[in-house]
Amino acid sequence: MSGSPKQDLRRHPGLARAVAHVEQALSQSRLAQALLLGGGQGLGKGVFARALVAHLLCEQTSADTLDACGQCRSCHLLAVDSHPDFLHLVPEGEGKQIPVQAVREASAFLQLTPQIASRRVLLVEPAEAMHHHAANAFLKTLEEPGMHAQILLLSHEPNRLLPTIRSRCQQLAFVPAETAALERWLQEAAGVPPADAAALARFCFGRPQKALTWWRQGTLEQRRAWLQRFLALPGEEAAASLKTAAEWAKQGEAAELLPVLHTVFADLLRLRLLRDAPIINSDCRAALEALARRVQVPALLELEGAWRQAYLAEAQNLNLTLVLEDLLLRWQDRRLWARPG
Ligand SMILES: [Zn+2]
Repeated sequence: MSGSPKQDLRRHPGLARAVAHVEQALSQSRLAQALLLGGGQGLGKGVFARALVAHLLCEQTSADTLDACGQCRSCHLLAVDSHPDFLHLVPEGEGKQIPVQAVREASAFLQLTPQIASRRVLLVEPAEAMHHHAANAFLKTLEEPGMHAQILLLSHEPNRLLPTIRSRCQQLAFVPAETAALERWLQEAAGVPPADAAALARFCFGRPQKALTWWRQGTLEQRRAWLQRFLALPGEEAAASLKTAAEWAKQGEAAELLPVLHTVFADLLRLRLLRDAPIINSDCRAALEALARRVQVPALLELEGAWRQAYLAEAQNLNLTLVLEDLLLRWQDRRLWARPG
């Protein structure tokens, strides 16, 4: 777990505010003992948390800027996940919870004197993964964290945390970046070509890390193929939906596929209701405009809701083939489309 250089964080379109806030607190030696980093996935909370952990443990850093030297013993140990004063509390597996026993152990860890650094640092990620009993046990930790303890809670859904946990932390809210700033950053920091940066920035809803991940995984290329296939389906036979569902399920990328295609619903509504409105999938504008002329809005809203539900439930390991078959058949359903012409 290595820290990012400071200048990268300052240029990061989602993090400048949080960096400024924490640096001011550090310079006045009043960083809260428990910080809650809250905001949707892909905004950069994790990058920020890692940089802050590195800074807090580094032996050669200045007190008031959020950087780490990358050279000292602490920095090296952290980079190889072996720092004795750092504990990263995560669920036991994907979709699993953080059990109460793990919270008790974390609590005990925080009470001990640091071995190398000047603090003991606990990062809980994500905090909403704490089981009900675990969360209650954690409350006690927040009440008496230990003299040298620094607690960082990272949460994609801070509203799901116990109010008593939230109120005992200083909250740092992460919000989506502006499209233009994100577009610039993708070009400058990640070397994304301008046209791709523009597309990524638009359809990632201001989430810089998500945009970066999608870029590195080639999701943008994948997205075009998905979209073209999806937008053609309403004119085809039901068999095409079944075949497409089977192919997509085999690719096993529902985590990206479902939200990417979900953007089509917003685009269709905008085109239908506002005509010249800017849309997310502007590279498919012609196909979207043709569909927007025929789409039945009540049926579209119904399917949009079902689509969102499927996306949210996807983490619970639904049978992806069946889910996609159902959604794609509904996307083709005659109730959704008025006759062309
Ligand atoms: Zn260092």
